[in-house]
Amino acid sequence: MTIKHLFSNPPISKKVLIKGWVRTFRGNRFISINDGSCLQNLQCVVDFENTPESILNKINTGTSIEIDGTLVESQGKGQKIEIKVEKIKILGECDPELFPIQPKKHSLEFLRENAHLRVRTNTFGAVFRVRSSISYAIHKYFKENGFFYVNTPIVTGSDAEGAGEMFKVTTLNINKADVNNKNEIDFSKDFFGKETNLTVSGQLEAENMAMGLGKVYTFGPTFRAENSNTSRHLAEFWMIEPEMAFYNLKDNMDLAEDFIKKVLKYAISDCKEDLDFLNTRLINEDKTKPENQRNELNLLERLSFVVNNDFERITYTEAFEILRNSKNNKKKKFKFLVNEWGVDLQSEHERFLVEKHFKKPVIIYNYPAKIKAFYMRMNEDGKTVKAMDILFPGIGEIVGGSQREERLDVLKSRIKELNIDEKELWWYLDLRKFGTVEHSGFGLGLERLILFATGMTNIRDVIPFPRTPKSAEF
Ligand code: ATP
Ligand code: MN
Repeated sequence: MTIKHLFSNPPISKKVLIKGWVRTFRGNRFISINDGSCLQNLQCVVDFENTPESILNKINTGTSIEIDGTLVESQGKGQKIEIKVEKIKILGECDPELFPIQPKKHSLEFLRENAHLRVRTNTFGAVFRVRSSISYAIHKYFKENGFFYVNTPIVTGSDAEGAGEMFKVTTLNINKADVNNKNEIDFSKDFFGKETNLTVSGQLEAENMAMGLGKVYTFGPTFRAENSNTSRHLAEFWMIEPEMAFYNLKDNMDLAEDFIKKVLKYAISDCKEDLDFLNTRLINEDKTKPENQRNELNLLERLSFVVNNDFERITYTEAFEILRNSKNNKKKKFKFLVNEWGVDLQSEHERFLVEKHFKKPVIIYNYPAKIKAFYMRMNEDGKTVKAMDILFPGIGEIVGGSQREERLDVLKSRIKELNIDEKELWWYLDLRKFGTVEHSGFGLGLERLILFATGMTNIRDVIPFPRTPKSAEF
């Protein structure tokens, strides 16, 4: 039986058998054990007089054990039920001198260095249970809304999207690889007969699938070799990319907003215990900060606020005006001043809009074409495209999406403008030749959503084994 099961439906006076890892062992009598099924530990009361010393000596923080006993109502404070132990079996010993995870507060940095063991702490147990719940909620949402789950390739042959930010995939021995007459590596000799990379997005392929299945989504690993060592970027992260035939930009925004709200709502009810714990953790952490750096709302309040309020929707031009006229801009408090229409918004600007100005999630749409990708639908003004980004407090961009350019001639001229090799994209352009339709989609970074849901602040702490510049341990 799992501990979660015992707490939710306690078979009082019945014999039970559980397996787990010792969290603490007090007074040679009380073992607190956790099996990962839930946040709570179960107290097991040992009859130490009848338990051999050789066993008692092996019960340390981290030891894995099997416990046989009777479930009873607890006499002590702090827990409702406990196990009156009849038999203990040591499954795996744990040397208390060497085990890094002790029953005390460890810094997140220390735990990152021990990422292979950090799941045995309350905080990371909670984070990864929430992550699992949210992943499930994502599939559930799409299933219930008529979407099909598709898998797009991880090895891609097109580099139209992520020039410079891609990881090369090759079986060539690059030290000994043949070169062509321009002294470039000859990829025709490579495994796929061409240059290949790890995907930076499954969007282009998802568009192809949507043009037959209607509504599809991908949910898979995504790789970006961007050298931005920030608390919001990973080199390997998980992205959810829905793509819908017959959806315009407004439909796209409506879907993204509804999707995020429903997924968070699911987590709020499915992960009550873990979120309560993370909430308390954050409240305590806040108390150690100076007053002006504390959060106005606690984690649970933030979650319910987002679920129950409309996101603000503004055009890029409106956002630009707000920023240009802001005190921060006039007093030159922004590092990048906002004076010229068309500038890309930096994270300081996004944070200003979301955290200071609107104090809620914001969707910015109709961006200047210049700062967005080639496939976004050109507006009638010839200057802006039907792009939309969703910005979240404390995180910044969580979703990037757009209505796609469905007109062959316009798409071709955009591709030309940006010096992209049209031949690379023949299969993508084919969609516009054979029964093209209005369509839209977006990409949501799973880890950014988990950051918001758990109140964690570093993206390295919401994926089990983070991949970042200069770091691929475990
Ligand atoms: P940013 O400006 O924050 O780097 P982006 O504009 O590169 O984001 P998109 O290409 O639109 O992002 O990708 C869609 C979503 O994927 C983003 O909104 C974000 O949630 C997530 N994302 C993008 N890059 C990363 C990354 N390196 N690590 C984690 N999540 C990411
Ligand atoms: Mn990026």
